Order: sequence, then C-alpha cells, then structure tokens
Amino acid sequence: MPHDTPLISTIVGGLVLAFVFGAIAHRLRMPPLVGYLIAGVLVGPHTPGYVADQSLAPELAEIGVILLMFGVGLHFSLKDLLSVRGIAVPGAIAQIAFATLLGWALGAFLGWPTGGSLVFGLALSVASTVVLLKALQERRLVETERGRIAVGWLIVEDLAMVLALVLIPAAASIGGDGHGPVEPLSAGLSRLFGFDLGIGAMIAMTLVKVALFVALMLVFGRKLIPWTMHRIAHTGSRELFRLGVLAIALGVAFGAAKLFGVSLALGAFFAGMVLAESELSHRAAQESLPLRDAFAVLFFVSVGMLFDPNILIDRPLLILATIFIIVIGKSLAAFLIVLAFKKPLGTALTISASLGQIGEFSFILAALGVELGLLPEEGRDLILAGAIISIVLNPLLFFLCDRMRPLLEGAKREEPAADPAAAAAEAGAAQEQAPEDDEVHPTALSGHAILIGYGRVGRIVGQNLKSSGTPFLVIEDSDKRIGELKAQGIEAFMGNAVARETLDLANLSTARSLAIAIPNAFEACRIAEQARSVNPSILIVARAHSDAEVDELKQYGADTVIMGEREIALGMVDRLAQVHHESVPYEDRHEPDTIIPTGTAPLEKE
Ligand code: AMP
Repeated sequence: MPHDTPLISTIVGGLVLAFVFGAIAHRLRMPPLVGYLIAGVLVGPHTPGYVADQSLAPELAEIGVILLMFGVGLHFSLKDLLSVRGIAVPGAIAQIAFATLLGWALGAFLGWPTGGSLVFGLALSVASTVVLLKALQERRLVETERGRIAVGWLIVEDLAMVLALVLIPAAASIGGDGHGPVEPLSAGLSRLFGFDLGIGAMIAMTLVKVALFVALMLVFGRKLIPWTMHRIAHTGSRELFRLGVLAIALGVAFGAAKLFGVSLALGAFFAGMVLAESELSHRAAQESLPLRDAFAVLFFVSVGMLFDPNILIDRPLLILATIFIIVIGKSLAAFLIVLAFKKPLGTALTISASLGQIGEFSFILAALGVELGLLPEEGRDLILAGAIISIVLNPLLFFLCDRMRPLLEGAKREEPAADPAAAAAEAGAAQEQAPEDDEVHPTALSGHAILIGYGRVGRIVGQNLKSSGTPFLVIEDSDKRIGELKAQGIEAFMGNAVARETLDLANLSTARSLAIAIPNAFEACRIAEQARSVNPSILIVARAHSDAEVDELKQYGADTVIMGEREIALGMVDRLAQVHHESVPYEDRHEPDTIIPTGTAPLEKE
C-alpha cells in the first residue's frame, strides 16, 4: 500500500485483532471484552509489531463512549430506577465513598497528591455497565429483584461519575495555576471549604450549565427529538432512520460539550433518555447497535493500547492491592450494605459479584486525571491493569458466590439463638429473607403451547391463546415486553430463545406446540432445530419473510411456516375482492395445515 493511511490502518488493525481475540476469549468462556483489551495491548506501543495511531485511537474511542452512553440513556427507565431507589441510591453512594476512601488511602500511601488519590479511588469505585449487564443477562437475572437493584445501583454510580467528570476539570482548572501538577483538585477543594468564591462560582457555573442543558433537553429536546425521529420513520427509509439516530446521538453530545461544557457522555445520555420515552426507542436502539458495538470495541482497543504490560512485573504488589480494592473491598462493602437493608443473602451475593469489577468510566476518569495532571501515569496503569484483571476474574467471582451461598446460609441457620426474643427476631428476619423467589424456575406447565416473541405477530397469537384458554407461556428478549406480559398475568421468560438455557425453562419435552413468532429466520431455524431434537412430536409453526426462509425453516423441523408477505398479499386480495365482487378460493389462501390448534388441554400443574 503506497499511501500512509493511519486512520484506516487503526480502524482495520483494531477491529480485525479485536475480532480474533474476542472470538478466542469467547471460546475460553471469558467476556469478549478481555479479547478486545488484549488486542489493544498488542497494537499498542508497549508490545513489538504493528503500532496503531495513538492519537486517532482514543478519538475514535470517544465515538464509542458517546454511543454507549446513548444506549444507556435509551434503556434508562426512570420508573425502574425509582422502584429501587430506597436501596440503590444510599447503597451506591456509600459504596462509592468506601471504595474512594480505600483508593485514596493507597494513593496517599504512595505519596500521590490528594486530588490524584481521590480520582484513583473514584475510578476504582465504579463498575462497568457493559460487564455488569452482560453478566446479569447471561444468568437471566435482569428482570429479578436483585437484577433491578444491581442495575439501579449502576445507574446511580454512572450519574455520580457523570457529575464527577464535569466537576473534576472545573475544580482542577480553578485549583491549579495551569502550570503542571500542583494538586489542583485538593487546592481547589480546600479553597472551596474556605469559602473561596473562585471554585465555588466555577462549580456553581458548571452546575447551572448542566441544569440549563438538562432543562433544554427535557423541555424542547423531549418534543423535538421524538418528533424528528417520527418524521424520519415515516419516510420509510431505514438508512435515513439509522442516520437520524446517529446524527442525534453524536450531534447532541457534541453540541452539549461545545455549548454547555457538558461532557460528551452526559450529552449522549440525555439524547438517549429523551428518546427512551418514544415508541421508536426500541428501533433506535436496534439501529444504533451495530455501530455502537463496533466503536465500543475500538474503545476497549484504545484502552488496551495505553496499557504497559511491564507494570505486571514492575509493580505486582501495587496491582494486587488495586485488585483487592476492586474485587474484595468493593464487593464486601456492597454485600454488607445490601444485608443491612435486610435483603436476602442471595441478593447481596449477586450484587456484590456484579459490582466487583471496573470498566469504561474508570478509564475515562483515569484518562482525565492524567490529562489534568492530577493522577500520575502509574495510577492510570494500575487502573487499567485492575480493570483488565477484574473483568477476567468476574465470572469466577459469580461462581464463588454461587458456591458460597449454601455455606453462608448453612452457617446462619446453625447460629444458636441466645434468648427467646432474639430467636423470635431471627425467625422474623428469616421469614423476611425466605422468599428468594426472584430466581427463575422452569415452568410447571405441560401439554402447553410455547410462544416465542411477543411483538406485532406474537401479541395476536398470544391474545388468541389466552382467550381460548390454552395453557401457554412466552419467551421474549425485550424486558419492556416481559413487564407487559407479567402485568397481564401471562407466564413469560426473558431471554434469547436461541439459548438452550432459555428454551429449557419452557419444558419443551412435554409441550404440545411451539409458535416461533420472531422476524429473524436464522434464529428461528436454530430454535426449531433444538425443539425438534428435544420433542419429535411437537407441532412447530414458524414465521418467515421469503420463500427461501420457508424452505430453510421446514428443513430444520418446522411443520408449518407462515410467510408474512404472502399473508399480507392475501389480505389485500381479500379486501380488493370485496370491492370488485370477486371471490378468492379459500384453499389458495391457506395450506390445510396452517391452522394452529388452540388446544383444549387442561392446565396441568404439578
Ligand atoms: P415483531 O417483529 O413486532 O413481531 O417483534 C418480534 C418480537 O420478538 C420482539 O418483541 C422481539 O423482542 C422478540 N424477539 C426477537 N428475537 C427473539 C429471540 N431470539 N428470542 C426471544 N424473543 C425474540
């Protein structure tokens, strides 16, 4: 290649290596994130071989951060957060304070400036959204009570960090003289406590600007953005819609940063949140997903690039101390806080395991700390090493928690009660802790119908099954829809139906029929294939959008495949025939075996 093309080679090098190592990590049952970080280390300057452009990579990564935060905003339901605020808000704040204190103590021990130590502690206190959500999803915990608490906790942490990202530069710019690392934050803070107007006014200004931006978004953005998206949706162009989503996410983030001095991340978060209320949010999330994933990958690659593996040899003890704070210190604090709120042991263990890692916000804080001259580079390297190792250890932490749970519960039961009052109190507490029914158990139904997908198609099928009294259950991978189903009293499991663990919950082996009402034929084939292998006599009805898909689904075991477009056409023909007084022979419209038996099997429960 004759030309020097750093942008292209950085994107290509980053994505290709991330793909290779992500796939290897997946194979080894580790989060792909680990593979991306390793790919970054390999294209970084600290390892031999190809070195990606060190200024372009972080800039590309910034797009990943914007889209990630936009995605968080799109899923941010104020209602969910409010339902767990009683524990999530004080819990997250107490835990941030505790972890920051530990980090600060380590920094102080190493002789770092106070500001730097505080940034270090803050960076260790916040868990990665991506790692946490993936861990919860894999264990089907998102819609359980403990899952909601963990997500609420994470959102409070994220909001606190967003505020920190705004306030740290403000405090640093006032505190420092602009000529290097002279403890600007601590100087700023001490002046703040000495009622120095400089920093006070600066922080107030920042808060006013943030408030102004938030108010503008909530008043105008809330109307303008969904309205624009609806208009674009009506053009019918998927390409324009996708472009619109990107333009809004990136545009609002950039505008927020330039005009209001708000961080790109916070701007993107609000752009997502105002769209979250619109029915289009689901589609917007879907459309922005591919690009978000690609740039998020580049984000992790660029973080990996900063990491100098030599630190593992030079500073093993410091790394151990950092990991101790992240994995043990933080988790233990969360565990005790949750128990203090009289939540069950299982909940406390899940929450502490899911928070025992650090991720994207820590990287942003570390980068900011170094840029402002607060945090020594060593601190950033410790954060990076701590993140990489804690993410790798996270599945292990979940495993240990699962193992520890019966032991801890056993120990609790064996504790002798000293006096009758205490015994009674303990019995009360045990009762309070007893209903751990937020765990997902397989269905008790048999001879039932299984419906996969509860969207435009599944909803109609489901209502029909319900009114005919057929015992049935639904598998859906959108938590919004699951909430809707539960509200209607319909048994529903959340998860991707392609995953065997999800299908197993539906008691396939004794089910009478399976309706696959999802649009993706590839996934539908995988579902049909598994169902057929478990239950050779089950009736499988599937949905398709082309003749090729019909053939494929039949090949994988579907008995009847309904082709959406054909049914639409026939519906139109029907209507036209009414006007033109023509009749369409019935047998042309439906194959004889397309009628789904609504079934009259009685509701069988064990
Ligand atoms: P629609 O195309 O409107 O009928 O919506 C399809 C529905 O199926 C949506 O609600 C999706 O969340 C859901 N869905 C799509 N793929 C899967 C899957 N693999 N497992 C479970 N639910 C799915």
